[in-house]
Amino acid sequence: MAKLLMIPGPIEVAPEVTAAFCVPPPGHLSPPVIAAHSRALKNMRAVWRAGADSQPFVVPGSGTLAMEMAAVNLCQPGDRALVVNTGYFSDRAANMLRRRGAEVVEVKAPIGEAPGPAAITTALDHGKFKALFATHVDTSTGVRVDAESIARAAGARGVLSVFDGVCATAGERFEMADWGADVYLTASQKAIGLAPGLALLVASPRALAAREALTVAPPMVTDWLEWRPIMAAYEAGEKSYFATPATNHILALDVSLASLVKEGMDAVFARHEACAQRFRALWSELGLSMVPKSEALTANTLSAVRFPKGASGPQVLAAVSEAGVIIAGGLHPKIKAEYFRVGHMGYSSSQEEHITKTLSALRGALS
Ligand SMILES: *Cc1c(COP(=O)(O)O)cnc(C)c1O
Repeated sequence: MAKLLMIPGPIEVAPEVTAAFCVPPPGHLSPPVIAAHSRALKNMRAVWRAGADSQPFVVPGSGTLAMEMAAVNLCQPGDRALVVNTGYFSDRAANMLRRRGAEVVEVKAPIGEAPGPAAITTALDHGKFKALFATHVDTSTGVRVDAESIARAAGARGVLSVFDGVCATAGERFEMADWGADVYLTASQKAIGLAPGLALLVASPRALAAREALTVAPPMVTDWLEWRPIMAAYEAGEKSYFATPATNHILALDVSLASLVKEGMDAVFARHEACAQRFRALWSELGLSMVPKSEALTANTLSAVRFPKGASGPQVLAAVSEAGVIIAGGLHPKIKAEYFRVGHMGYSSSQEEHITKTLSALRGALS
């Protein structure tokens, strides 16, 4: 039997999602694919809690491509961007923005913490920024930022806000329209619940207007102005082509998003929280400390946990694997060998057998 994949992406996928994917590749203009595309784009707004005037994009690629699309469509050389840095993927966002020629300022915090509201508003008040970039859940530390307060602080100052939700979207509460966030982005292989292969993002009207106002166009394949009419056509059930959509993925995305919408996003967020609590109960039972410094900063989609004193990290991971479960090692370069990560998002958070098997593999390996 295949081992259970409990890492922070890729994750286990629901059998009905795999079944939708596993068909001979259909054409991108075939009526079932266009219908699935149309439903998926509409359902993205529901899952993102985005306004009717927002634009969802489904593009073949990874989460990193979704990040790049946000960076290059909002910023051009000389623009100023603020990065709320909580770890590995915030570093990546800052590097991307610098490559685009933006002037980047970072607000940082010690590992396991997030910059506080005062540091963020002070930076916003003094920096003349065009855009703010934050990682909703940083996969390297398991730290979740207070996306609502950051989005509201940026919006109140006329600064565009972008949230990397690759390890959060459809696992952690996010209210794009209500909080006034401008871009929320993710990838198919995390809590959305598909195989790797799609970059998924939704842009607000303000974000779309910012792209239109650029004088230095982004590279063609990342350009929202190329993709937008295509997405609008697919949503309207019409044939269109710019770059070939990942057709099997579109069929799977339709199934996965429909099931999230059917369950209801409040229930989806509550399910992730309840599942995360069971993992936290194990860490406290075993006397282990998590990388995030407080409960308020601790993500529900994954656990980042320090190894017990004197334990060999590779041996713990091997013992868990021996029990049939794959977990991940550390990712943050400064503490890489000191901790491990367990993904508990998406399909597995709804499967009692997955949860109990993982908890017992971890208990066996760590006690
Ligand atoms: C996984 C992840 C990414 C990168 O996604 P890829 O699909 O590997 O490119 C970016 N940001 C966060 C927060 C992630 O967890």
